[in-house]
Amino acid sequence: MRRALEVCGTGAGDLGASGIGVSGAGPVGVGPGGLESGAPGPSGLRLAGPARKDAADRAREAAAEDVPVGAVIYGPDGTELASARNERERTGDPTAHAEVLALRRAAGVVGAWRLTGCTLVVTLEPCTMCAGALVLARIATLVFGAWEPKTGAVGSLWDVVRDQRLNHRPEVYGGVLGAECAAALRAFFR
Ligand SMILES: [Zn+2]
Repeated sequence: MRRALEVCGTGAGDLGASGIGVSGAGPVGVGPGGLESGAPGPSGLRLAGPARKDAADRAREAAAEDVPVGAVIYGPDGTELASARNERERTGDPTAHAEVLALRRAAGVVGAWRLTGCTLVVTLEPCTMCAGALVLARIATLVFGAWEPKTGAVGSLWDVVRDQRLNHRPEVYGGVLGAECAAALRAFFR
């Protein structure tokens, strides 16, 4: 099922508690990676309610059996290409993280490994594997929720996606609605 990502560059008011705000006024997190605080979104793109909700929905699905992490990928026009949840336990595949599965599915939809201009939204800071994979896929914009101080590779332990030696570096918005995303993870580990 495809759903259009809400894209609007004007005005405020739709940045409710349920929305991911990627805009100058939005709750763009500033974390250990020194993320651009208050930086405008990609071409004024605003990722409102649907984006976060989709990622959170996938995370909730995973919670029954696995660490609840959800990811959604949107095309350059804001159309939802793919979504996934963490399926390590279900599949017995150590690489079945939500981001990797979503990248594979989105590439299948696009019909190419390059996901140029696409946005990846995920509820948790990606690990080294996923950060590497999204760089390889040429993801243009990464939005993530909770910081992961133990394994995070987008500013916490490493900063794989903004290494100056790499020829592709996505735009990053970290800690977006981080408290909400972290709460879901804490509930799982309790
Ligand atoms: Zn990962």
